Amino acid sequence: MAHLGLIIDMKSMADNKKIDVNVNYMYVDVGGGALWGDVLKHCVSEYGLAPKSWTDYLDLTVGGTLSNAGVSGQAFRFGPQTSSVTELEVVTGNGEKIVCSNSQNSQLFFSVLGGLGQFGIITRARVLLQPAPDMVRWIRVVYSEFNDFTHDAELLITSQETFNYVEGFVFVNSDDLVTGWPSVPLNSNQSFDPTLLPKKIGPVLYYLELVLHYNNHDDPSTLNMMVEKLLGKLKYLEHFRFETNLTYMNFLLRVDHVEEAARGSGIWATPHPWLNMLISKKDIDAFNRIVLQNILKSGVNGPILTYPLLRSKWDNRSSVVLPQDEIFYLVALLRFTHTHPKESEIKQMVAQNQEVVQTCIKNGFDFKLYFPHYESTVEWKRHFGDQWERFVDRKRQFDPKAILAPGQKIFTRNHIL
Ligand SMILES: Cc1cc2nc3c(=O)[nH]c(=O)nc-3n(C[C@H](O)[C@H](O)[C@H](O)COP(=O)(O)OP(=O)(O)OC[C@H]3O[C@@H](n4cnc5c(N)ncnc54)[C@H](O)[C@@H]3O)c2cc1C
Repeated sequence: MAHLGLIIDMKSMADNKKIDVNVNYMYVDVGGGALWGDVLKHCVSEYGLAPKSWTDYLDLTVGGTLSNAGVSGQAFRFGPQTSSVTELEVVTGNGEKIVCSNSQNSQLFFSVLGGLGQFGIITRARVLLQPAPDMVRWIRVVYSEFNDFTHDAELLITSQETFNYVEGFVFVNSDDLVTGWPSVPLNSNQSFDPTLLPKKIGPVLYYLELVLHYNNHDDPSTLNMMVEKLLGKLKYLEHFRFETNLTYMNFLLRVDHVEEAARGSGIWATPHPWLNMLISKKDIDAFNRIVLQNILKSGVNGPILTYPLLRSKWDNRSSVVLPQDEIFYLVALLRFTHTHPKESEIKQMVAQNQEVVQTCIKNGFDFKLYFPHYESTVEWKRHFGDQWERFVDRKRQFDPKAILAPGQKIFTRNHIL
């Protein structure tokens, strides 16, 4: 984690628990080490307000996700979490505590957003809020053809009238409990009947996961009409639509149940060699053919996410680097191991991740790693591409002795820039 260095436990900071809502200006000031789940509970239960953009799992710190981007099914509309922040308090590598925003110390503000912890420690963030709905209609619709799946996903993320949340998943065409048909239904009284699938289909299938917000006092028939109107435009497989209703809070905390079950069976605290990538739309068909339907045709023993996002919703002044196309896909291989994994099992997973990355490079795909992990400066330079000089300049300005996050091997400690 930090060889011969220090790990700062953000939970130990006295004002970390601070979650101050400003109702008039619709924002919340939160400590950098606060967990998004706590922000949600406080804002919704006390004020009926909530941040606009989330991650799928909320036991992550505010400072931690803002140092990457923070992405989930709302990002197509509101951008990543970094796009909903208007002010930060940061302790830089120079040891200065600085308040920054779009208009005040803006260089530092944009450096730190998506800055991988390289420029400063986020000790407070001001996050925009909006009214929280009471409930959500949570829907999954299945596809056998990747083209139909991407067509519909892109239609939904570019339409004015659309769902509040759009994500996509890949699953294996088999009865495997974790990666196959049984992983699709949303509750135990629904079942996936594979005999109703078209005859000629590939090794993997896809589903869109969609959510529409509503309030308790809304007329149910109006909600149903809206759902039918939006789904009516889509080309998913007949008989393969699953839906349920949930409180907004329970929907956002949905991964807690996965965590609870995984902790119970001992597979939460085992290694998770995850791979997250952002891939330009122009290469996503080839990626599907070569990687999803081939290298990963047996799944990854955990969820595979793939859904489109819009580049224009990301601020290109932040430190995040993205592929070129306006539409690009997040691809996440969220691997789980067995309870007591052998070293060979983990090595195999890591090797398969490397194979996927190498395949993308070999085929000239336009992609970036999300949560990048590289071993050498050469690889980091390639990752940042034409943003490398800007990243180095930012380091020179805010952490010239390279004391922050040296374990990422972007800069060498004690090397005066
Ligand atoms: C189970 C799980 C599910 C996830 N799901 C999603 C998802 O849906 N969407 C998504 O976008 N991401 C997701 N992530 C990834 C997540 O955004 C990153 O791992 C993020 O770094 C987590 O924050 P943390 O608080 O756990 O950071 P830590 O693991 O504690 O820190 C990671 C690094 O981030 C930097 N950092 C952390 N805190 C600060 C700070 N206050 N100031 C400056 N730098 C800091 C440091 O460099 C640190 O080394 C998930 C991660 C996990 C473990």
